Amino acid sequence: MEILKNRIISEGKSLDGGVLKVDSFINHQMDANLMFKMAEEFAERFKDCMATKIITVEASGIAPAIFVGYLMNLPVLFVKKKNPKTMVEMYTTTVHSFTKDREYTLSVSKEYIKANDKLIFIDDFLAGGNAANAIIDLAKQSGANIVAMGFLIEKSFQKGGDTLREKGYNVHSLAVIDDLRNNKIILRD
Ligand code: 5GP
Repeated sequence: MEILKNRIISEGKSLDGGVLKVDSFINHQMDANLMFKMAEEFAERFKDCMATKIITVEASGIAPAIFVGYLMNLPVLFVKKKNPKTMVEMYTTTVHSFTKDREYTLSVSKEYIKANDKLIFIDDFLAGGNAANAIIDLAKQSGANIVAMGFLIEKSFQKGGDTLREKGYNVHSLAVIDDLRNNKIILRD
């Protein structure tokens, strides 16, 4: 998506350790207009997937996921990083956070994820694929299927995307970063 690539070039910052900072329009301050346009792109790509639900992980996935859910007229389920007292029966898994370098327990209520669900996983970044694998684990526990995965930005040098595609998942990314070394941002055409 040209509009996203242009924003990454003009406002993104390549930090040490292969981290892209896009806090001015995705991860801290958000550009709702751009977010909506990115969701329109996903809604178009996923229109034939027969999905029943959008799933994401709090917090940064929620904004794109909710617009996709709005456009596709589907419920949006966000997996929680803490299990609230109100959640009685749940599926849980663990995930390693790339940016925070710590483990989280992810929980989702058994009420909202069923064996007949066809899920679209939406997230801001695809790096090593840890978040995606955690969603795969939760889906397996519930018997639900993952029919597509959509990421705003994929960092191809971290191989999560390659592994998921090799496993047969329908993975879409709106911008692909091939390299962030030497604080430069190399975007794929
Ligand atoms: P993965 O789980 O694929 O290893 O990493 C993806 C998750 O880590 C995303 O949910 C995102 O929040 C975070 N993440 C990974 N790489 C980056 C990055 O370069 N910049 C930012 N802002 N977040 C990232």
